[in-house]
Parts: sequence; C-alpha cells; structure tokens
Amino acid sequence: MRLLCCLLLISAAAAEPLPKDFTPLPAVLEPQPDDGGRKVWNTRYFRLDSDMELRPNELARLSQVADSTAMVVKNYPLPLFAPPEGLRSRIAIYKEGRDYVAAGGFAGTAGFYFSRRAVVLLEGEYFVEGAGKGLPPNYNEDIMAHEVVHLCMHRVNRRLPQWLVEGIAEYFSCAHSGGGRYSFTDIDKSLRDHLRSRLSPKDPGIPLQPVADLATLDGHQWLEHVTGIAQEDRYQAYATALLLAHYYLHGGEARLEAVRRALVDEKPADLITPADGPKIQEAMSRYWRSRGLTLEFPAKE
Ligand SMILES: [Zn+2]
Repeated sequence: MRLLCCLLLISAAAAEPLPKDFTPLPAVLEPQPDDGGRKVWNTRYFRLDSDMELRPNELARLSQVADSTAMVVKNYPLPLFAPPEGLRSRIAIYKEGRDYVAAGGFAGTAGFYFSRRAVVLLEGEYFVEGAGKGLPPNYNEDIMAHEVVHLCMHRVNRRLPQWLVEGIAEYFSCAHSGGGRYSFTDIDKSLRDHLRSRLSPKDPGIPLQPVADLATLDGHQWLEHVTGIAQEDRYQAYATALLLAHYYLHGGEARLEAVRRALVDEKPADLITPADGPKIQEAMSRYWRSRGLTLEFPAKE
C-alpha cells in the first residue's frame, strides 16, 4: 500500500507527458484471403495489404513498426488516438510508383496518408531490404511511423492546425529508434539528432520556415505550401512543425492544456496566430541554442 502511494506521488510529480521506452511486441501477421490479387494480413491494429512479395522478416518489421506506433500514440498522455471507426485501419503497399500514385500516393514520396480514404500508402521499393532507394538507415521506417501516426489520429486531425498534425507525426518519428522501438527518455537529443541528420549533418544551423507562414494552414493549404517549395528544401516546413509541436508538448501545462482542448473541441481557436510568430521563433531559438541547434528563420522581407 505504501509503495502504491509512493508511486502515485511520483507520477503526480512527473508533469512531463512521457510514456516509457517502448520495445516492440512479437509481430502479429494473420494471413487473410487475397483481395483482388493483393496479399492481406491482419496485424494487431491494422490490415496490411501488398501487391508485391515481402520476405517474412520484412513483413514482421513492417507490422512491428506499425503496431508499435499505434501503441505509443494510444499510450501518450493526450487524447491523440482516434483511428477510423468501423473497419480496420489499412496500410497498403504498392510495388510500382505509378500504382502508388494511382491509389492516391503523392508523387515523389515514399509514404502518404490519404485522409479521404483513411489509408496509409507505401511505395514498396522504399521498404524492402537492400532497396530503400538510397535512403539513410531507418529513414523509411521513420516515414512509415509518421504516416501511421496520421492514420491513428484520423478523427482528430481536422481539429488541429496542420503544423501540429505534421509536428506530432514527426515528433513520434523522432522518438522512433528503429524496428518499432521508441524512446522518449531524451526527446531533446532525439530531435536534435533527427533534425541534423535530415537538414545539416555537419552544421548546427537548421534552416526553417517563418512560423507566421505556417500558423493557420489547413491540410490542403499545407500541401499546396510545401509543393511550392523546392523539393530539397521541403523538409524545412516539417522541421518547423516539429519544433513547434515540441514547444507545445514540452512547454509547460498551459500549452499542453491548449493542445488537449484543441483535440476535443469541435471548433477550437487557432493555437498560433501569425502575429505570434516572431515571439515564438525567439523563444524556440533561445531554447535550442544551448542544446546544440542554431535555428535559422528567414528574415521577413
Ligand atoms: Zn505528414
């Protein structure tokens, strides 16, 4: 009894919204009847289907990344977990880029969450061992984790500004350390390493987008915005979203409460207005300067 009280006190004192490190459970892959030439499996949470042959170890890895991601989103101490209702959430793998795009995948991406059909699409060539199309190690799994977070938040995404939708997906992607393992013990280090590897491996400078430009974009406007950026610079928008999500998730109880309200309110107020941009940029720059990142926001013309 005393131990229980003690544990409760400890958890009440720990205000940081951190679940424990997460090790993936053994892969679950229950074969289902083929569907129009596509192989189908049920994992713990998802229906995974593919038009290409996948080796057992590849399948196991994909199912573990997907299921672990669902579990950490579900256990995160905010009401983020709101997958599609009714049917199993679907992850569909397409071998050919043209089939991936025909199914709704965005050309030039390895993975895409197609919100209208509530499906995560993966271009298979990026996800089979040895292929990866030249992506750095774990990069493809991180992309899968990002898209699966969107699917897990299917029913709450529309309530949030898109920078937060993308920022939270990228936040989990940072905490993902490969094969469905997650660690939230040193999220600042995970973010720093993730941003450096994506944007500037040898340089502490992190090129970003003005917060004011992203503050009020919805899903469609976000896609329009990022496709208007040169492909090699697109990640800057996601990096900015990631840092903003961190600013809200690790910036004290008031900001966390604002996110919690946004997740449950039908008509939430904007979390950030464009006028807040410079002040938030300044606060984020100050925070990260002593943690090994120099945030580089473009000067306003
Ligand atoms: Zn996304």
